Amino acid sequence: MLTYGSGNNYDVGKTIGQQVSDYVRANVNIFLHEVLQTNHKLGWLQAKAREEMSLLGGECVDEIAGIADGSRVPFRDLLLYNLYGDYFIPDGCTVMMAVGDAGHQGNSMLMKNSDQVGSESMVGDGFNQNKEIYVIQIVDPEEGNRIIGLSAAGRTGIKVGVNNKGVAAGSNIARTVELREKKVDISKVRASDRTQLLRDGLQENSAVEASNLVSKMILENPTSTPGSMEFVDSGVGIVIEGSYTHQAIDVVRNDVTARANRFQLLEHTNQPEDVSSVCRYQRCMQLLNENAGELTLEKFREFSRDHVNGPGQNSICRHGSHYREETSLGAAVIEINGSAPEESVISICLGKPCHAWRDSNGYATISFDQLDTIPSGFGDGTVWNEFYSEEPRLP
Ligand SMILES: [Zn+2]
Repeated sequence: MLTYGSGNNYDVGKTIGQQVSDYVRANVNIFLHEVLQTNHKLGWLQAKAREEMSLLGGECVDEIAGIADGSRVPFRDLLLYNLYGDYFIPDGCTVMMAVGDAGHQGNSMLMKNSDQVGSESMVGDGFNQNKEIYVIQIVDPEEGNRIIGLSAAGRTGIKVGVNNKGVAAGSNIARTVELREKKVDISKVRASDRTQLLRDGLQENSAVEASNLVSKMILENPTSTPGSMEFVDSGVGIVIEGSYTHQAIDVVRNDVTARANRFQLLEHTNQPEDVSSVCRYQRCMQLLNENAGELTLEKFREFSRDHVNGPGQNSICRHGSHYREETSLGAAVIEINGSAPEESVISICLGKPCHAWRDSNGYATISFDQLDTIPSGFGDGTVWNEFYSEEPRLP
């Protein structure tokens, strides 16, 4: 599925809403179902959303209004989904980065596998394996930066992406003790959404500017779940680890780093029993260190479908036997062109990395100067349907 919007923010949203209306409706229904599984009342959440709409910024509220009109999904439901999606349907995820000389011929690189749990509500037409539906999102507004990313249909925020100034962004939830003990109570705080913060960060023109903005924003309004956000440009890679009570920043130059679903700087806050994140982090660092300075998009695609320690919950490409297990649903690999940022390249697969990356029909490789080269299968759901399967595709 491909969504491509241009014009003012409302028009961007309306085009996107029209193109994938069924998937927007499906994702919002999943979200509302998840809300109703908790003790939170919908009316209470709607009132909270009206108070906290400003967390999204005016442009995104306009875009959500456009998505609502384009998809004919009520604005109030889409607003909830965009404000609290991270809280009720959290992402897992693995991120790797190689900065400057450690990347490809001096170009910095970023990779993210996006992992998610499913819901029993995600059944019927348009669903695969009870999971939220992902789209390639291309935003080309009249004002501000252009963005290509991976998103869930109906959300303005992105899971991973790049802008036309050569800044790439990714994120991960962190499985801290605080998260497990549910000390994060959205009834008591205004909470930011990580996917939305990535989108906000990509309105900036460098990784430092993006990190400054986002770091300040989460000091004022922490994210609804603890987690990391990564920003990379041609010169520097920055990882912001943020929880309610801590923030730490990792700065990477001409070197590599990775994150799974645990903090590396704020290690003392992690759940000790989270074996999967330890396995994935160590495997990522091994692959990065063994290949530093000789990395390519193809190698990053290989890392994304890596099954060492699995295939299962502990491998980079994550599989499960039940939809409540967190498994990989999509991925992106990015190479930043420092001298010509518009020629930075992003490859996105919709579906399971070990299926989609191994078939030239399973992923799209896109740059800002070649948006017309995206295969049609990404626009009508055929790619997603062909490449989504929990069954591991082994070598
Ligand atoms: Zn796999």
